[in-house]
Amino acid sequence: MVLDDLGSSLRGTLDKLRGKSRLSEEDIEEIVKEIQRSLLSADVDVSLVMELSDNIKERALEEEPPAGTPARDFVLRIVYEELVDLIGDSTELPLEEQTILLAGLQGSGKTTSAAKMAWWFSTKGLRPAVIQTDTFRPGAYDQAEEMAERAEVDFYGDPDSEDPVEIAREGLEETSDADVHIVDTAGRHALEDDLIAEIEEIEDVVDPDTSLLVLDAAIGQGAKDQAQQFDESIGIDGVVITKLDGTAKGGGALTAVDQTDSSIAFLGTGEEVQDVERFEPDGFISRLLGMGDLSQLAERVERAMEQTDMEEEDWDPEDMLQGQFTLNDMQKQMEAMNNMGPLDQVMDMIPGIGGGIKDQLPEDAMDVTQERMQTFTVIMDSMTEAEKEYPKAIGASQIQRIARGSGTEEEQVRELLQQYKMMERTMKQFQGMGSEQEMQRMMQ
Ligand code: GDP
Repeated sequence: MVLDDLGSSLRGTLDKLRGKSRLSEEDIEEIVKEIQRSLLSADVDVSLVMELSDNIKERALEEEPPAGTPARDFVLRIVYEELVDLIGDSTELPLEEQTILLAGLQGSGKTTSAAKMAWWFSTKGLRPAVIQTDTFRPGAYDQAEEMAERAEVDFYGDPDSEDPVEIAREGLEETSDADVHIVDTAGRHALEDDLIAEIEEIEDVVDPDTSLLVLDAAIGQGAKDQAQQFDESIGIDGVVITKLDGTAKGGGALTAVDQTDSSIAFLGTGEEVQDVERFEPDGFISRLLGMGDLSQLAERVERAMEQTDMEEEDWDPEDMLQGQFTLNDMQKQMEAMNNMGPLDQVMDMIPGIGGGIKDQLPEDAMDVTQERMQTFTVIMDSMTEAEKEYPKAIGASQIQRIARGSGTEEEQVRELLQQYKMMERTMKQFQGMGSEQEMQRMMQ
């Protein structure tokens, strides 16, 4: 993940401040050096790093920590605020009819991002279409078509045409039923005049509401020139950072954001169409700094366990992390979660899990209300122990029997099984995304 290193190294430095109520100048020096080192090694532009560290130093020295605030929390808040300020808000993308133009060098991830973004908009109830105008890269058409199919969104391209401007024009007409048009363009290995001329012509025809520059997270300072040239030719409103799953860098993309005076729109975190996150600065920085509000989460877990009357051994993080949990576990966890508060809030407190996962879950995955739980409990009382331990084996005839036995509708039994599946999937994602150690610590 971008600037990943910053979180861990900074935490190490900050931990040394534990127990201190005041910061010495040396403490601040050390923290600022650590921040500089991490940001520079993540390829963030030197002048940006200097600006950020000067601001942090100045504030840490001049501001008076509120009474009773430990030095560690005080400085962490300053670092957090300054980083949020540096990265800025995410690119504004209203959930309504719009046209988005993607620009970037070949291989930056434009085609993949077009399908991912279309998928993301479709999860928001919009009807997106991808228009592929890349006539330069062999295979671009097939790849785009296949990805649009996987994302289950409309698609237009013309493998026989060599005129990207004409394809863009026709594409907009052919997909006029869609609300969100995402126009993918050709890239080159480097910025060439004909590429710039081509994208300017496409921009003219498409008249996009938003133009996004797609950048590979591993790009270093080269991002600056690219960003500048694309910005001069079509005007860049935002940046999509791709391949964050493969690098700890990403600083080049931040430089591009600064250079174009724009913001980050999306993050790409894998090769599948669902591997996309809408950028959210607060959550991103909290995650980056490993803040994630673990202490509050731990508190909630403890409180919930007391209220739920759960024994330690009932809550086995090992099982949960491996996604091997049964309906019995689910019932206990639902009870505990209900006592903890809304699941989406709880997820926000866990480092490594943010908006991305939440957005991918259906609305009612979060709906662990008392009423639903009571119905579920009644239904489960009519299940055999074997069914509860292995819910996947429950078929139509069992559903009928369970509904009759519990005096509920078959639909409600199916809903329970659906909820189980969603929670099981969530647990698997926890396993994939959260830091295991953090989870273990949190659950113990
Ligand atoms: P384009 O030339 O800009 O259209 O780039 P592509 O969309 O074809 O992407 C180039 C390569 O990067 C492909 O192999 C993609 O599968 C891969 N790719 C794109 N985005 C991501 C990402 O977020 N993570 C990973 N791991 N691979 C990605």
